Amino acid sequence: MGAAILREGGLVAFPTETVYGLGANALNEEAVRAIFAAKGRPADNPLIVHIHDRSQLAEICDLPEGAERLMDAFWPGPLTLLMPRRPAIPPVVTAGLDTVAVRMPSHPVALSLLKACGLPIAAPSANRSGKPSPTQASHVLEDMEGRIPLILDGGPCEVGVESTVLDLCHGRPCVLRPGGVTREMLESVLGPVDIAGSVLRPLQEGEVARSPGMRYRHYAPEGQVWLVTGSEADTARAIRKLFTEAESQGRRACVMCFSEHMEALAGCRPHDIGSRLHPSETAQCLFDTLRRLDAEGMELVFSEVMPPEGVGLAVMNRLGRAAAFRTVSAAEVLAGQLPFAQSG
Ligand code: AMP
Ligand code: MG
Repeated sequence: MGAAILREGGLVAFPTETVYGLGANALNEEAVRAIFAAKGRPADNPLIVHIHDRSQLAEICDLPEGAERLMDAFWPGPLTLLMPRRPAIPPVVTAGLDTVAVRMPSHPVALSLLKACGLPIAAPSANRSGKPSPTQASHVLEDMEGRIPLILDGGPCEVGVESTVLDLCHGRPCVLRPGGVTREMLESVLGPVDIAGSVLRPLQEGEVARSPGMRYRHYAPEGQVWLVTGSEADTARAIRKLFTEAESQGRRACVMCFSEHMEALAGCRPHDIGSRLHPSETAQCLFDTLRRLDAEGMELVFSEVMPPEGVGLAVMNRLGRAAAFRTVSAAEVLAGQLPFAQSG
């Protein structure tokens, strides 16, 4: 049924190993426009084209240096490659750019849908623009009910953050968006790889985003998220202090902390974001947690952070943007500084 809808130019939401995607025939301009409409996505933010077989690449893109080695190593999987676009891909897919983003997902439901319809499928994440990406079918339903005819339910997504986006078209390979395929993994195949500057900070005024998606407010809950940095012991104490102060001001607050600190932060409405030793656990539950904060009407959220290494880089990119990069050091908090009081 999903394949038939796609062949007829309709939209289908489907699970992938990263997040749920909202797919349409990438060769059909009108079908692709319907994705932008259903998501409320700005037309200048390009989509990723999904394939199930490398023979499909011939009509989609040229293959730059290194592309095939990366595909051998990481496809199917959470790696999107930016490559020169061929004319069969309508400009609406790439927002008029001469590069096209392509990925082969590894999720069995995604692969069988792609195979059954036999088409390259343009698919961004299946959320309304500005909301956290959906990692469960229920998240898609929340955002898309009444807007699309079909959601395929494949359970919770394994990776939980969107694919790594790697630009192969502009000099040294550059990660525009970190994901489940880490810098370290890419470098084991390619040698040195750059990381776009805006991965761990906001775009500066006048700075051109290499990935248009970086321009938009993303992953942001309604409440204000604060990232608390510092030693493990200081952080737990500082977070308790922030929570207590917020609540005493009558502001509804909660905490995002590692499993190891759930006990230390009992009573502070702690949300478990997985073990601090396993960033992939945080990646898996991050977007679901951010959605819960909204559902629970949180005004202030205090979160622990992890080193931006391995999958931790993808976690800190998403968490940083959810927090609009608001950061406070535990030492400052313990010395009496309360950041939200001034800016709240
Ligand atoms: P989504 O499909 O919602 O995960 O978003 C796709 C991401 O890939 C966005 O951040 C886009 O800006 C980025 N992207 C897709 N195509 C291109 C392209 N041709 N050049 C640069 N970034 C791209
Ligand atoms: Mg998205």
